Amino acid sequence: MYIATMQLYKTQHLKVYNSLSSTKELFEPINEGHVGMYVCGPTVYSNVHLGNCRTFMSFDMIFRYLRHLGYKVRYVRNITDAGHLEDDADEGEDKISKKARLEQIEPMEVVQRYTVDFHNILQKFNFLPPSIEPTATGHIIEQIEIIKDILEKGYAYEINDSVYFDVKKFNEDYEYGKLSGRKLEDMISNTRELAAQDDKKSPQDFALWKKAEPQHIMRWPSPWGDGFPGWHLECTAMSTKYLGENFDIHGGGMDLKFPHHECEIAQAEAGNGHSPVKYWLHANMLTLNGKKMAKSTGNNILPNEIFSGNNSILSKGFSPSVVRFFMMQAHYTSILDLSNDALLASEKGYQRLMDAITGLDGLNTGANSDFDIKDWRQKCYDAMNDDFNTPILIANLFEGVKHINLIKEGKEQLSADDKKILIETMNSFTFDVLGLENKNDSGRDSEKLSGVVELLIQLRNEARANKDFDTSDKIRDQLAALGIQLKDSKEGTTFKVS
Ligand code: AMP
Ligand code: ZN
Repeated sequence: MYIATMQLYKTQHLKVYNSLSSTKELFEPINEGHVGMYVCGPTVYSNVHLGNCRTFMSFDMIFRYLRHLGYKVRYVRNITDAGHLEDDADEGEDKISKKARLEQIEPMEVVQRYTVDFHNILQKFNFLPPSIEPTATGHIIEQIEIIKDILEKGYAYEINDSVYFDVKKFNEDYEYGKLSGRKLEDMISNTRELAAQDDKKSPQDFALWKKAEPQHIMRWPSPWGDGFPGWHLECTAMSTKYLGENFDIHGGGMDLKFPHHECEIAQAEAGNGHSPVKYWLHANMLTLNGKKMAKSTGNNILPNEIFSGNNSILSKGFSPSVVRFFMMQAHYTSILDLSNDALLASEKGYQRLMDAITGLDGLNTGANSDFDIKDWRQKCYDAMNDDFNTPILIANLFEGVKHINLIKEGKEQLSADDKKILIETMNSFTFDVLGLENKNDSGRDSEKLSGVVELLIQLRNEARANKDFDTSDKIRDQLAALGIQLKDSKEGTTFKVS
């Protein structure tokens, strides 16, 4: 239920926390009414864990709210299917190649398997698809062109068929480290000496193109010989291609600020002469046992484990909407720790919210309203306008729940016009913006259906006991016509819905 035509952004003034300035800034997109947003996607070499899902869910919520405000959003979220090495300092094997080698399958089979898994999980969590989902391997040509440009401008050097970004040279003309708040001099004094076999001039330099050794299976021809692009370059190539040299929002997890996003800024500035992004947004980490969830350490939990309850930390399974509600109860820039108790509490909260929303249409109305509905609605917007503060939004939704329950108990009243605002606000924030789904509806419906059929079975039994076979046959036949078959046995009558 998006009210895109309403251009709510003209009256609702959104502020976002920009990691580049470390302040909350008024959100003013480059082109009025339009937003370009790029979010670093997953490296598809294993199943996404719940931590990855949290970051993508934070940006799904941001995408949803921007759309709700009436912006036309082009949301680009890539798939990293090449170039991401095991070590951020350009060392180690390509994560996807390694998995392919271990499993003795093609790298693209690895990519396909985990891209499908990623999409399945996101669908369960009710994510909106991005506008474009480009892949690194689909943009090798664009990446090569950027390298040529940076080389030409003197901020990169070729050595032994690889190309590295020259951080020192770049820092003479620009500022390397401005996003992560690091100074190049400090980085230099804190880093180890270069290993003898390292081609780089300085440890801070990063790969734009790496020569493929004979055993490296993911390789492409280039002006510097067969090789593969550096990890940071793909995001510069794809964001520029689809959103332009200047775009509004770049997002990702906090852990990508350095070196990934810092290097993206450097590449774009070296090539185009100016900063690429107006607002850098970073989502915070999901932790387990107080430690960051990560694929590499094994300290993680998979979405399917949480849905089924098949994990030793869980007492039961939790539905995707409950997990989503749990995530939304924390601000996206705060660390969130996952535990069974926290999930149980979220399940109760989610249930209370859904109970209040279910059947809202039938809420009685009165002549006047006992509370200021417009003021309450604005408080919901104020929460979201304050850097997408979903926990405060949820607190406000529960304020709505309190009034709904008082009205149901006949202790408060609401006018018919205000009831419309109440329903629209509860629905649009709960479902459109937070992305929750009301699983109550179908569950409750089947519960009600069972109740009605059981009642008819009872009436039919009474009719048969009274030898009123006209009535008992009528009940059986008409239920059959509706696709509900009754089956009599010694134990009693059961039914099946076809
Ligand atoms: P990767 O597939 O490792 O490139 O990560 C995909 C996204 O998940 C990145 O934006 C990471 O910052 C994010 N991420 C990784 N671990 C966590 C975590 N424990 N909590 C939240 N986000 C995470
Ligand atoms: Zn990226």
